[in-house]
Amino acid sequence: MRHIAVVGSGPAGYYTAEAAQKKFGDAVRVDIIDRLPVPYGLIRFGVAPDHQSIKGVHKRYEAVNLSDNVRFVGNVTVGRDVSIAELNQFYDAVVLATGAPADRRLGIPGDDLPGVIGSAAFVGWYNGHPDFAGLDPDLTGPGAVIVGNGNVALDVARILAKTRDEFLGADIVAHALDALDHSGIRRITLLGRRGPHQIAMTPKELGELGHLGRATPVVDLGDFPPIGEDALLEPGMRKSVTHLRDFAAAAGPAKDIAIDFDFFAMPVAVEGKDRAERIIVEKTRLDADLRAIGTGERYVIPCHLVIACIGYQTPPITGVPYEHGRGRFASDEGRILPGLYCVGWARRGPSGTIGTNRPDGYAIIDMIAEDLTGAADKPGRPALDALLDGRGVDIVTFRDWQKIDAAEIARARAGAPREKFVAIDDMIAARSV
Ligand code: NAP
Repeated sequence: MRHIAVVGSGPAGYYTAEAAQKKFGDAVRVDIIDRLPVPYGLIRFGVAPDHQSIKGVHKRYEAVNLSDNVRFVGNVTVGRDVSIAELNQFYDAVVLATGAPADRRLGIPGDDLPGVIGSAAFVGWYNGHPDFAGLDPDLTGPGAVIVGNGNVALDVARILAKTRDEFLGADIVAHALDALDHSGIRRITLLGRRGPHQIAMTPKELGELGHLGRATPVVDLGDFPPIGEDALLEPGMRKSVTHLRDFAAAAGPAKDIAIDFDFFAMPVAVEGKDRAERIIVEKTRLDADLRAIGTGERYVIPCHLVIACIGYQTPPITGVPYEHGRGRFASDEGRILPGLYCVGWARRGPSGTIGTNRPDGYAIIDMIAEDLTGAADKPGRPALDALLDGRGVDIVTFRDWQKIDAAEIARARAGAPREKFVAIDDMIAARSV
């Protein structure tokens, strides 16, 4: 019997477990360990609450859990409750699938002022992540600035702009829905340090901005290169740019909220007395390598809220080699040290779709199978359970999660799929109801 520990129960973790089942069949036991009492990581806490069809992928992960050779071990923090060295003693392979749930700082003066937050915190707030449920972002408005031109920036702009009715069917948590309902934000500015041809937004997500009840995207055609150059873009990018051109051409009736796309716009400082009151932006141009270069021309946007949607990083774990510049574990295609691997965003950095993690998970299991040449003499689960029991750690099982899940579904407001518990204690308490 081979024993594999997967740390992290998001997409990368589950695809790795699924791949292990396929590769080793009944000759493997996989423990998926998560620091939270609830599974699915990015699916629960990252994917936007109004994108329920994307969240549906959790059904596939559930099927993995319902088999005998995989189990969920929730409420266990690796690095605190159990060390990597201990996991390495108990399991043939330890796979870090911890994702990239931490924000990167903007790195400009004033980025530590109250009112400046990262997308992990803001997204975690509206998705009910226990670490960020108490964030209480300043939605007094009228200005809010989003830094970055990726899909997370789009998620954040859309969530800030939607009406209560537009969240019908979404699992946005009640505290966020209520706060957004009273939001005074009327102008959302998306700062892209490069141009429309350099965005990291995908067409479907960008297209959604054109159909909002009370918000209109505002785009300046003057920022675009000649239209003939669109033909040189890869098809997905061309579609996205076409959406932007359509936004620029649309002269529909003005709505309550404007979503301004400021291209060639690089934040250089956030200013304010005791809190964010304005952001200073420098206009840019592109050099020959398509990098943004400041032109010296500056302007000011008044705002109480600045949300940096500039990508994420993987939190380091003591003793695990780490690439500080890239914000991910240091590995050779996923091999960190003998018996220790990483997969998904913890290996590659935060790029690609949920589906990208599937081939990643399968590849790491092929690698592990190749490396497993020694005797199959690791103790696996019983050793972990004995150690955690001795340390008084209260494991949350998949059966427990099913009870928490049922409790969340039972307390959903009308039209919503669930009302998430946002405090760890409440999650744990719900399993005994
Ligand atoms: P991303 O796609 O890497 O976009 C980051 C953006 O931030 C880029 O526009 C980047 O500009 C900009 N940026 C980085 N550092 C900056 C700085 N210091 N100042 C100003 N701008 C800066 O990251 P993301 O939006 O966090 O998304 C992460 C991944 O999740 C992506 O693969 C994304 O597609 C995926 N995702 C998908 C969906 C969906 O499919 N519905 C939803 C959310 C996220 P440069 O290009 O100039 O570096």
